[in-house]
Amino acid sequence: MSRPPKEFSVLGLPVHVMTNYSRWLLECLLQRRGIHVVTLNAEMTIQAERNTTLAKIIQNAELVIPDGAGVVLYLRLFLWQDAQRIPGIELAETLLQEIGQNRTDAKVFFYGGAHKVAATAAEYWLSQIPSLSIAGTHSGYHSKVEEEQLQQTLTQLQPQVIFVGLGVPRQELWIAQNRHLCPEAIWIGVGGSFDIWSGTKTRAPAWLGNNNLEWLYRLYQEPWRWRRMLALPEFALKALIYRLKAISLVGQ
Ligand code: UDP
Repeated sequence: MSRPPKEFSVLGLPVHVMTNYSRWLLECLLQRRGIHVVTLNAEMTIQAERNTTLAKIIQNAELVIPDGAGVVLYLRLFLWQDAQRIPGIELAETLLQEIGQNRTDAKVFFYGGAHKVAATAAEYWLSQIPSLSIAGTHSGYHSKVEEEQLQQTLTQLQPQVIFVGLGVPRQELWIAQNRHLCPEAIWIGVGGSFDIWSGTKTRAPAWLGNNNLEWLYRLYQEPWRWRRMLALPEFALKALIYRLKAISLVGQ
């Protein structure tokens, strides 16, 4: 097994920094090591401050990647880490490509999104990588009975990689409650990735992402997000206060 990823603390939450996340995930896959991957951004960090269950789940996750620009800036400015932003959707895409290329025969499962969105996302991926083994898909809106059926399906199928796109924090809570069903699987919360892969929504142009402005595009696409996005300035302020406190403690 390769070395565990280097861990840093961002507002009390772990973030793992490594050069090649997908390679590490592929190793976990081959070694049948069950893991939970969290893609951390500023908004989620602020949610975790108010939701101790979410905070505990993030603390227990085997891999927390720096998904948001705020988290990366924190790592660079305050912890002097040469960290790169890894959007969760891109890590998921790389993993799918590598699973296809390496012909690991790993079974993949897509769970989440509106009716038919996960199924359309699966069709898209099969058109890109015909060798991919997508064992099943399930929409993210359903009754209690359907959820029990989904749990049974997962138990029977034992997919090795399970993408859960229910949004934050629903997907993290769901993974924590259900990962025992497939203890050897890689479970990843992928937010709205199925919407993008199915063509239901589009991602921000690369130049916005490269300039840490992807959030602006999301606000334009989904204006109702404005309240959630107040977490961004809150994160910046808390980060500053947190570091000033840390510096004053060292100075004492
Ligand atoms: N979603 C779902 N079930 C729910 C609520 C949400 O499947 O009960 C899906 C929704 O259709 C969307 C995704 O979860 O595809 C949330 O996407 P978003 O981009 O809002 O994720 P976040 O920004 O929270 O990561």
